[in-house]
Amino acid sequence: MRLSIGSIAQRRAAALVAAIALTVGACGGSSASASPSNGPDYVVLATTSVFADIAKLALGDTVTINTIVPAGVDVHTFEPSPADAQKLTDADLIVMNGLGLDEWVLTLLEGAGKTEADVLELGEDLTGFEYIESTEEEHEAGAEEGETDEHGHGGTDPHIWLDPAGAQLYMERIAKRVSDDRADLADRIALAFGEGVDQLTALKNDVAAKYAAIPAEKRKIVTFHDAFGYYARAYGITIVGVAVEAPGQDPSAQEIAALIEAIRAAGVTSIFSEVQFPSKVLDQIAAETGAVVLEDLYSDALGAAPADTYVGAMQKNADAILASFK
Ligand SMILES: [Zn+2]
Repeated sequence: MRLSIGSIAQRRAAALVAAIALTVGACGGSSASASPSNGPDYVVLATTSVFADIAKLALGDTVTINTIVPAGVDVHTFEPSPADAQKLTDADLIVMNGLGLDEWVLTLLEGAGKTEADVLELGEDLTGFEYIESTEEEHEAGAEEGETDEHGHGGTDPHIWLDPAGAQLYMERIAKRVSDDRADLADRIALAFGEGVDQLTALKNDVAAKYAAIPAEKRKIVTFHDAFGYYARAYGITIVGVAVEAPGQDPSAQEIAALIEAIRAAGVTSIFSEVQFPSKVLDQIAAETGAVVLEDLYSDALGAAPADTYVGAMQKNADAILASFK
């Protein structure tokens, strides 16, 4: 069969898969223990709806993709159930972010008959996406209250996927691993990956062009939790403040007062809630500053169509933030 490979992205994908094939050949069978699946199907289990859709961008319909945390539910404070452990048992590959976001999945491995060899961490050790540290004040505030930050960010920002360039690195990692595990799917994955990269490239170019049309000094936002650091870096946005450093950590009265002061000083007129979090704190801040709480941003979870895909959610985010600058 002759395949017509039309785009640069698809050629890049083919090169990636060729490189993977060489690696598999050189290492000689080490992947057999990590991948017990011999059947026609291969099941990827993602911790969140976001990573499931990024896996879909990378793999298309070449495999089955399942999710643990449902759309619209908070990953940071998620409590897995026995049914979730069964999902792990049924999976060939477990896809998580790491960096303190979804470490709870590791506690399910042993009971589900899995090991860390069955897990792919998308966010660890990505060049250009080393930790963005939270502010020193936030660290100190947490330490004083004796918080262990078990479900939180641990003083770092795990939200690499909110920069599409980071999402593409996630895609590459997923495509490489599954092609590694299942050489018989590698050609089809290469094609699906190329199409996914084309979609992501269109998103990147569109959103970057829209932000470039806004003067830099107008690009200021306030969000619910400390999730948009990489996003802000990608588009030259200043994060004036966040209501909570990580979900489950309520801000102190002093922290709220400091944020209100920062919002007034920066002249921010709109603040953003996030889909999976109630926004009582934001409502209070809005009441005291006169700022308006705008429609939900998508950070850790996807939502209803058209935000039921990564690309759709990122477009909705860009539209909402850009509208607030007008
Ligand atoms: Zn988060």
